[in-house]
Amino acid sequence: MIRCVSPIDGSVYAERAVLDPAQARAAVDRARAAQPGWAERDLDERIALVMKGVENIGEMNDDIVPELAHQMGRPVRYGGEFGGFEERASYMAGIAKDALSDIVIEDSAAFRRVIKRVPHGLVLVVAPWNYPYMTAINSVAPALIAGNAVMLKHASQTPLVGERMAAAFHAAGVPEDVFQNVFLDHQTTSDLIAARSFGFVNFTGSVGGGQAIERAAAGTFTGIGLELGGKDPGYVCDDADLDAAVDTLIDGAMFNSGQCCCGIERIYVAEPHFDAFVAKAVEIVSAYKLGNPLDPETTLGPMAHVRFAAEVRAQVQEAVDAGAKAHIPTFEADDGGAYLSPQILTDVTHEMRVMREESFGPVVGIMPVRDDAEAIKLMNDSHFGLTASVWTPDTARAEAIADRIETGTVFMNRADYLDPGLCWTGCKDTGRGGGLSLIGYHNLTRPKSYHLKKA
Ligand code: NAP
Repeated sequence: MIRCVSPIDGSVYAERAVLDPAQARAAVDRARAAQPGWAERDLDERIALVMKGVENIGEMNDDIVPELAHQMGRPVRYGGEFGGFEERASYMAGIAKDALSDIVIEDSAAFRRVIKRVPHGLVLVVAPWNYPYMTAINSVAPALIAGNAVMLKHASQTPLVGERMAAAFHAAGVPEDVFQNVFLDHQTTSDLIAARSFGFVNFTGSVGGGQAIERAAAGTFTGIGLELGGKDPGYVCDDADLDAAVDTLIDGAMFNSGQCCCGIERIYVAEPHFDAFVAKAVEIVSAYKLGNPLDPETTLGPMAHVRFAAEVRAQVQEAVDAGAKAHIPTFEADDGGAYLSPQILTDVTHEMRVMREESFGPVVGIMPVRDDAEAIKLMNDSHFGLTASVWTPDTARAEAIADRIETGTVFMNRADYLDPGLCWTGCKDTGRGGGLSLIGYHNLTRPKSYHLKKA
């Protein structure tokens, strides 16, 4: 069984039986048998069915919002994920024809030489709970549109999400064997990968999970996309719009109780701005309302699981013991468990875990920096490389800094957003994903060359 323990009150919200190995293999067989027929359908038809499935999710949104609160603690006031879910699917639907079109090198009397993009066959999507709809749709929609069958193995914390998606897509007319939601334990997942069940595996989650998937795939030549953790920095330059920088970076650090892969976890502020930045950040965070996510007044819900909160508490305590200053007094609603006070730390160093390891919680360390060179050095002093956010009105300066940051995405004057037109990717321990955009389609298909001599 997999079990979703609700962070609201620690009760069991949902339980599901996992597939046993034989059932899992049978599900793979059904998907592989159904895939060629799906790939033969017109691209327009696949797009229409997928987008109808997306629309169906929108119609369920009133039920989905409280369900998300129960499963992973996000306050209902934020209204769920349909905005980003639909934006990403629509964008990928919109570029599908161009992205999947043949690359014609020559079509003459003598030769036809063409590169086509063909689906991998069966794609396994392993999704995390923190943005359970938006992370899943990043690969589910383009994989289906490209003609693959998809098996979705969603996180145990959010078991209802895969069921909702399956219901929505099946009601739209996507065949049940072409898109399957499956409950799998880790061993069965690894065994299926090792048995070459999938043409491609897209894994979004922790570094440890990504390593397990890579190990399972070793020697099988299965393509894998790994979208893993981050320790994303923000850098506020001396010419930045301070108010805008504080608002966005602190929201980027705290939204979703800090459980965003591209959440801001470290902030470097040019010395002249440092005190004002910290004061404003403390003012914003002090006004948050921590509490039950079903209460519309709540702006900060519990963390998704007590064990996640325990890790953040430990990182904060260790930092304070080592000399960091904690600026936010414990909130009344802090229960020592999943309900965790947000925290802003100064006097932090890169010796502290809170500045090195992913916290994935509502805490951020802020350090003053002398100049761009020092900021770049500190931003790059990390095992991770997902995004970085640079604050300056000077595009040339931002781009020059961006060139020197080891990361997947650089933002200027914004943060914590997935632009479906750009490749969602990372470097170092963030893995080697490449989702969304034209490149997302290239990763969900393989090139096939046709060299046809006519005479
Ligand atoms: P996680 O433990 O790795 O779980 C993520 C998903 O992977 C879940 O479906 C989980 O299944 C599955 N999983 C984990 N280990 C597995 C294994 N050995 N074999 C098969 N499946 C496995 O990650 P998490 O802590 O829940 O999620 C938060 C992490 O995801 C953070 O590190 C965050 O940065 C990262 N993340 C990255 C991105 C990105 O785009 N780069 C986006 C969102 C989140 P179970 O739930 O059943 O264990």
